[in-house]
Amino acid sequence: MTSVIERLRGESPAFSIEFFPPRDAADEAVLWRSIRELEPLDPAYMSITYGAGGSSRDGTIRSIARVATETTLVPMAHLTAVDHSVAELRNVIGWYAAVGVRNILALRGDPPGDPYGEWVPHPQGLSYAEELVALVRSLGDFCVGVSAFPYGHPRSLDLDTDTKYLVRKFRAGADFGIAQLFFEAEDFLRLRDRVAAAGCDALLIPGVMPLTTPRTLHTTIRLSGAPAPQRLLDRLEPLAGDAKAFRAEGLDVVTELCERLIAEGVPDLHFYTFNRSKATREVVRRLGLVPARA
Ligand SMILES: Cc1cc2nc3c(=O)[nH]c(=O)nc-3n(C[C@H](O)[C@H](O)[C@H](O)COP(=O)(O)OP(=O)(O)OC[C@H]3O[C@@H](n4cnc5c(N)ncnc54)[C@H](O)[C@@H]3O)c2cc1C
Repeated sequence: MTSVIERLRGESPAFSIEFFPPRDAADEAVLWRSIRELEPLDPAYMSITYGAGGSSRDGTIRSIARVATETTLVPMAHLTAVDHSVAELRNVIGWYAAVGVRNILALRGDPPGDPYGEWVPHPQGLSYAEELVALVRSLGDFCVGVSAFPYGHPRSLDLDTDTKYLVRKFRAGADFGIAQLFFEAEDFLRLRDRVAAAGCDALLIPGVMPLTTPRTLHTTIRLSGAPAPQRLLDRLEPLAGDAKAFRAEGLDVVTELCERLIAEGVPDLHFYTFNRSKATREVVRRLGLVPARA
């Protein structure tokens, strides 16, 4: 099984795709249509997020197992420490291995119900992603990714502390980091510089969301944890009432951002797809990231 890190060490920049587990049969059909539409474009890997509840968690395991057995894609499963004892985490990691998934994005996760609430670990569980990285590593030959935050994690005291704990995740055995959403290439590049200045040469990948609707813009602002630059709002907000014009301008914005990141040598662009494929396909084609035959 090819590992994510092997794919990231390829000669040219790549792209990867993130999905969430389907909630019902209709969702599942949308997810699988998107997977089949993106598969010929040869993404470096595809990942499925890990939810807070039982059925969503089963959905992650079921979907990633299907990706591993029925597609040509390199699968990566997300895993969080939320409401899990260490014994349960070992069990999930064992399931991933059993279905052929050797790439895991190891996350602490958010407190259920309130992402900004106080984190309360499971009594027999873990407190930080760093510990989950070490656990996954101790259980076998896994390639492990972690999350990174260009503006700092919302609960971090300051950027220095944030960087210190990010670097500890790499020292614990993480192979690469995927960045939360951000607005300007410089915001990601400063994160990369901070990690390098701390003496760590781990690969960092920018997270990107195609801005197809005002909703995707608001989601980007919410997840990034930072206010959007006025320059971006001036470009997009006047088009909020014109779906076609907003989408065209939004995809221009994202393509320009990606071009700048590629020029700065990023190995991969990680697309948050919302289980749709059209906008991601358009952007990666414009960037020339797809094989000539596709
Ligand atoms: C690419 C990406 C994918 C994601 N996928 C999912 C998903 O599938 N499911 C999901 O529920 N959530 C997901 N998230 C959200 C993530 O779980 C939350 O942002 C969560 O709040 C932080 O997780 P973490 O792994 O970064 O935590 P950590 O790295 O543990 O950090 C959490 C906080 O604790 C601090 N910290 C870390 N280590 C220490 C320490 N040793 N001592 C003191 N403080 C410390 C950090 O600075 C930070 O403020 C994703 C986020 C990203 C960027």
